[in-house]
Amino acid sequence: SSAEAGLYTASDQIQVLTLENVDSVLVNSTAAIVVEFYASWCGHCIAFSPVYKSLARDIKEWKPAVDLAAIDCAVEENRKVCTGFGIRGYPTIKFFHAYSKGDSTGLAFGGFPREVRGLRQRIIDALESHEDPWPPACPPLEPTSQAEIDIFFETNSVEYLALIFEDSKSYIGREVTLDLLQYDNIAVRRVLSTEEALVAKLGVTEFPSCYLYYPGGNFTRLNVHIEARTFYSYALQRLHGVVRSGKPRPVTEDLQRNDTEEAWRPFNRSMVYMADLESALHYSLRVELSAHPVFKGETLNALKSYISVLAKYFPGRPVVVNLLKSVDSWLQDHTGAEVSYAALREQLDNSGQVPDAALPEGVRWVGCQGSKPYFRRYPCGVWTLFHVLTVQAQSSAGSEPQEVLQAMAGYVRNFFGCRPCAEHFSNMVQESLAEVHSLSIAVLWLWSRHNRVNNRLAGAPSEDPHFPKIQWPPPELCSGCHGVKKSGEHSWNQEQVLAFLLSHFSSDSLLTDYLE
Ligand code: FAD
Repeated sequence: SSAEAGLYTASDQIQVLTLENVDSVLVNSTAAIVVEFYASWCGHCIAFSPVYKSLARDIKEWKPAVDLAAIDCAVEENRKVCTGFGIRGYPTIKFFHAYSKGDSTGLAFGGFPREVRGLRQRIIDALESHEDPWPPACPPLEPTSQAEIDIFFETNSVEYLALIFEDSKSYIGREVTLDLLQYDNIAVRRVLSTEEALVAKLGVTEFPSCYLYYPGGNFTRLNVHIEARTFYSYALQRLHGVVRSGKPRPVTEDLQRNDTEEAWRPFNRSMVYMADLESALHYSLRVELSAHPVFKGETLNALKSYISVLAKYFPGRPVVVNLLKSVDSWLQDHTGAEVSYAALREQLDNSGQVPDAALPEGVRWVGCQGSKPYFRRYPCGVWTLFHVLTVQAQSSAGSEPQEVLQAMAGYVRNFFGCRPCAEHFSNMVQESLAEVHSLSIAVLWLWSRHNRVNNRLAGAPSEDPHFPKIQWPPPELCSGCHGVKKSGEHSWNQEQVLAFLLSHFSSDSLLTDYLE
């Protein structure tokens, strides 16, 4: 369809507008809508599209208050729409206030910046230009005062009021307010450095800085690695008792209650468990692959590559490694055009009785346990397994930079039972796997694509409320991984991230608790 030929798809978190849906999206929406009018043939639009996509990722938490959309004016049937809005050049960005009428032509962002931070600030300015009606999901953005705070808890039933002290020119307070709008039990307000009574009362000397105010009138300073937007938002979203709206509040007893048919296994959240890796192997090899009675052509190649990287890099117990190696050599020696699952299964179960070789039966999830039987588990195991394999390949100086990732791509494309997942993952592979020229970049590639998936899935129904999807690793696992650019934007320190991943997923750090 015409929508698919354009520069954006729904998985970019950008609404794709067409002649048919434009009115239903823009007219009378409870959220403000930012629309990029572009032409898919226009070079500046193509160059701008990665920025617009990053913006969508950057402000995805703001969606209920302000959402992003785009329309391809090069599509003939869309011309009428673009002409109707008076579009003459591309790209053009327009802001449609919440509850816009059918005849609204939007507020044009003239000469808009071609970077995320500037665009984000323009959006905040535009949000603030709302007169009545204000978008209902958008919290107040104006600075608060001592008077408002004094009565705050009388009219708001939240556990925390976060106050961001800042200069009038700073956008951080408003950005964090919007970052938290989908979270319950917390409200965020900005306080200007000129609000002298409050500044004196809390003894504030640094701008920006963030303080937590409690219903009893107590307050504490929020400890962060760097005084910047992402660090405040990370920390506030993860405060005890703060949960995503519409999600049941996680109850610790949930985890102990035996409704996952097995007793909960206590574990350390900052560690990787061999039990999860072996469980992923069992499920993948004995359950998922069994859906394919015969492997041939592409599926046979995918199977061979997968088993080959497992045999080379799986940092398992000797019996498991022996088993993987014996299956691998059996498969590599196999010259026929087909392999049946039944024959593979005999090898996996070691019917030929290779000495000291076995793959334990069954699953025992530990770090991948979910608070409900339908959360986490196997997909968590798959991610963990491949992170470990990329790290093993790097530290054993494997020869092919893309070897593990190609095997993963082949596995996911041909066998991974979650088909929409496979499609998204294959798109990322096509888009950028070619850029992977070293084993270290392979480790970082998988980390950053996994974070893309986390970003897309944050708040989705599949998210376990006890294990929220975050940009990983969070500062408490690796503070040096996080930094800010001169502009104040969050940045990853890739060298530190690489060092962290190499250590976190290394064979030396794997815990062997709960193995049979
Ligand atoms: P997971 O995302 O499974 O992560 C497991 C563990 O890895 C985390 O607990 C954390 O310790 C660590 N981790 C987290 N982020 C990173 C990172 N960036 N780098 C390294 N380690 C990290 N679900 C969908 O609903 N839609 C999809 O399109 C989709 N696509 C998927 C594609 C693939 C290839 C896979 C393997 C899974 C996909 N899933 C998808 C499932 C989803 O990504 C999660 O695996 C699932 O929701 C379970 O989440 P989790 O909380 O256990 O964490």
